[in-house]
Amino acid sequence: MNKRLAVFSFVLCLTLIWFQSIVLAASDLATIEDLRISTSDDKVRIVADADKEVDYQSFALSSPNRIVVDLSNATLGRNVSKEIDVDNRYVEKVRVAQFEKDVVRIVVESPVKRNDYDVFGIVGGSSAYRVAMDFGQISYLNGSSGSNYSTGSSSSSASNSGNSYKPSNISVDSSAKSVLKGKVITIDPGHGGSDSGAVGPSGLYEKTATLKIGLNVAEMLKKSGAKVYITRKTDKDVYGPNASATAELQARCNVGNWSNSDIFVSIHLDSFTAPSAQGTTGYYYVNGSYDSQKLATYVKDGVIEQIGTPDRGAKTCNFYVVKNTEMPATLVEVAFVSNPDEEAILKSEDGIKKAAKGIFNGIVRYFQS
Ligand SMILES: [Zn+2]
Repeated sequence: MNKRLAVFSFVLCLTLIWFQSIVLAASDLATIEDLRISTSDDKVRIVADADKEVDYQSFALSSPNRIVVDLSNATLGRNVSKEIDVDNRYVEKVRVAQFEKDVVRIVVESPVKRNDYDVFGIVGGSSAYRVAMDFGQISYLNGSSGSNYSTGSSSSSASNSGNSYKPSNISVDSSAKSVLKGKVITIDPGHGGSDSGAVGPSGLYEKTATLKIGLNVAEMLKKSGAKVYITRKTDKDVYGPNASATAELQARCNVGNWSNSDIFVSIHLDSFTAPSAQGTTGYYYVNGSYDSQKLATYVKDGVIEQIGTPDRGAKTCNFYVVKNTEMPATLVEVAFVSNPDEEAILKSEDGIKKAAKGIFNGIVRYFQS
């Protein structure tokens, strides 16, 4: 074989290998086959249908306000509309484009605030994989819901988890026992698993503190003879990782509703951009019963007595878990994790025990009154 032919064969070979790798890579990509938009009174749902699993990541941009969802390892199908006018109070316009070779970008122009949208994956169904985006009245917590930045990965944060946490042996007196005996109570430690909740300036996760407090409250209630249900005992999502806000929160409500609990107490930490914000708030549903208001007030007061936080009052709200539970319910914002002093309280075992004792005392007083 002459030299020139050998070089030519070699180059041809390389070219073929390179070409084949491109073809392989292209066929690995998911195709976004459809982008469906449905509207109802309280929300707009946008669903991207892919022919195989895609990873997704979302983030918000301002002026104009828009939420961007990147679907990676994906190409845009030929028949998908590139621009859709929704002209709804939750969504103005949806645009979709091949942003990079393997990234399809969906841009949703929407005026909703960060707790009023959610991006989540749905596996299964006729299409192998869907990414759904909800915009509208899905707001549920004034703390961070984690839904403003979510990824398709189902891995959850391993650190800061409180998974091995054992509640303390806090004594309860006999009067509490006589009040609580036989009462059915659901305790809901806010967030968990893929949703860390708000994060304090020195790194305390809301989900970690709420779990520790919740486990201590549950322990004291059990000791007093109450029948206690807790929505989670470990660092996990109640419904499942990266579920929609509604699915996750409904799963928590179900624990209370299906057990016919007498009361439902959801435990959260507050958070605000200004680190100076501080204090304890007892929330109850705006159309809730007088008993819910009473429960919110006593629980909040109990916490304040123990940890000495400023009183932000008992306030009405529209949070999902107090709205969709069928018994008197409160969501207590124990303190601001964004405030360095209050974060320090909740990082200490003493602070956790006191917060739990305060919630417990509030529950006892509620049943006493
Ligand atoms: Zn929260």
